[in-house]
Amino acid sequence: ERKQLHRLRREPTRTIDGVDVKLFANAESRDDVAEAHALGAAGVGLYRTEFLFLQRNELPDEDEQFRVYRDVVLGMTGRTVTIRTLDLGADKADRTGLALRDEPNPALGLRGVRLSLARSGLLESQLRALVRASGYGPLRILLPMISSREEVRAVRSMLKRVTVQLREEGHEVAEQVPLGAMIEVPAAAIALPTFIGSVDFLSIGTNDLVQYLLAADRNNEALTNLYTPLHPAVIRLVRDVIRLGEKRGKPVAVCGEMAGDPHFAPMLLALGLTEFSLHPATLLELRRTIRHCNLAQLKASAPALLRARDRMAIEEWIHGNAPAHR
Ligand code: PEP
Ligand code: MG
Repeated sequence: ERKQLHRLRREPTRTIDGVDVKLFANAESRDDVAEAHALGAAGVGLYRTEFLFLQRNELPDEDEQFRVYRDVVLGMTGRTVTIRTLDLGADKADRTGLALRDEPNPALGLRGVRLSLARSGLLESQLRALVRASGYGPLRILLPMISSREEVRAVRSMLKRVTVQLREEGHEVAEQVPLGAMIEVPAAAIALPTFIGSVDFLSIGTNDLVQYLLAADRNNEALTNLYTPLHPAVIRLVRDVIRLGEKRGKPVAVCGEMAGDPHFAPMLLALGLTEFSLHPATLLELRRTIRHCNLAQLKASAPALLRARDRMAIEEWIHGNAPAHR
């Protein structure tokens, strides 16, 4: 069984009816990147940069960040790498004093892109490091906690400015560094038509999207029954985002835990998803499941999934559409 999975490292992630699906890796260390590469990931879909800022007393400067980002790019040998700007908030144990302590409601506080925009010197050094790393291979920048068009535009204009600066300083940087938004705040998903024109790609963060959409703390054990992607509101919103991305030619991935659970794969495929980003630990399992899926058949059952009125009905759909294997 393990051996058989192992063999899938070099196989394509292709459905029975011949459609290729991209499996990107979520990573936050050198080891994750090496593993992603070895497993044949299409690239890195979410590189979390928080760890660089945690467990230390001073902030990393531009050069230190640059070296880390460049090594991620080099580690993937030409496959696309998606690096997320800092997603720190008062919920993380940060000793640098960056995030406000004692926020009454950290999940709704100064976190993610909000914190970056409030500390623009910090954002500027991170963007400079990222753009410098783009000279070494395909790199995209992903923004966490986007809730409006203004936030995307503010970062976009800083990105343009630092790119011009770096060229003037003699750095060789990519022609264009794609800028994308995490879709994890419900407002961003609902108002996507207002700012999709300002982004190059999207990544749905179901961990936070589920939390905010269902008003259920992702870490509260008393709410494990409520905190689930198997809610009609989640299914519909994810479907809408995928559809709009498709219509406007903007790639859409799902990078929350949901994407890493092979159990949910047929559902996400039925909703039109073609890019998954997940921890390398379950990448081969997901590949195996997708290789047993019939995409045309799943898409034909999508209307039934969208008609499901409660969790039980959604689970029945999943059960009825699980690929036959093993
Ligand atoms: C998410 O919210 O789904 C996500 C991928 O980001 P994080 O888990 O880092 O908040
Ligand atoms: Mg998140």
